[in-house]
Amino acid sequence: MLSEFDLIKQYFRRPRPGRAVLGIGDDCALLAPTPGMQMAISTDMLVEGRHFFAGAEPRMLGHKCLAVNLSDLAAMGARPLGFTLALSLPAADPAWLEGFSSGLFALADLHDCELIGGDTTRGPLNICITVFGEVAPGQALRRDAARAGDDIWISGTLGDARLALAGYLSEVALDPATHAQAATRMHMPTPRVALGQALARLAAPPAALDISDGLAGDLGHILAASRVGATLDADALPAGPMLARQPQALRRRFTAAGGDDYELCFAARRADREAVLAAAEASGTAVTRVGTIDAQPGLRFVDGAGAPLDLQVGGWDHFSGS
Ligand code: ADP
Ligand code: MG
Repeated sequence: MLSEFDLIKQYFRRPRPGRAVLGIGDDCALLAPTPGMQMAISTDMLVEGRHFFAGAEPRMLGHKCLAVNLSDLAAMGARPLGFTLALSLPAADPAWLEGFSSGLFALADLHDCELIGGDTTRGPLNICITVFGEVAPGQALRRDAARAGDDIWISGTLGDARLALAGYLSEVALDPATHAQAATRMHMPTPRVALGQALARLAAPPAALDISDGLAGDLGHILAASRVGATLDADALPAGPMLARQPQALRRRFTAAGGDDYELCFAARRADREAVLAAAEASGTAVTRVGTIDAQPGLRFVDGAGAPLDLQVGGWDHFSGS
């Protein structure tokens, strides 16, 4: 049986020098942020049986735990610097640790985000990551920055992760290939880190957040913080490639109120349309314009022809302006 210290040394401490002044091994790590920059800090915890199924494949789990945290940095427009990892493990299983750490570090290396410390304890499987990033003063993508008349944009596509969940829960019958492809979106989300940083450089940094609980509910946070409303074109919402083949009612429901998408939703000035498209191009991330910020509170859906739709999606009552 591995000791706690052997486990850290073998799976989480890496020999190569990193960006941190001092990494794993002392009482604290030491980070030296670029002078003049603001730190962006966020924590996300993933609990077995609540955020992921028991027995989840460890490499994909390692990816997802860091991905959801990097997604928060992306949604703030911050550049990743490092992260800590607090792990509660039922047992020191070498195969699990090997898979988990390789999935984690593959994504960490892709974003030059260094593991600088953590904590390891025995207990029910629970993974808590804190990410540290930096952003220039005035450039953070804050939820309270939306203004009436802004365009609402979505990165990538929505709903395939929710479709995969529907497959697991037998809400929808999916052929195995479709389910497997949709499940990749659920287990291996792509944090839109480069897009977030490119948007932060716009003259008026957009209001933004990452969509983890479904577009309707999450957009509601921007509307509340900015004291505005919105109209979304349900037919403009970009469905994931697997969801795109499903019937319209399901497509509308899962794009408007899915979950686990980790795409960015942002509200940018109309005058910045070209600049947004250039930021998307430069970061290699597709973006779609899906609606408008209104002065009138509440969230409204319309179809492609502009006719009102009652989608009955989660969060609807909450945003009805009361
Ligand atoms: P302390 O008792 O001071 O909290 P620990 O014995 O928990 O220290 O950890 C020793 C070192 O290993 C610390 O630098 C800590 O940040 C690091 N560490 C512990 N667990 C992990 C982990 N899961 N991933 C990365 N670093 C870790
Ligand atoms: Mg400790």
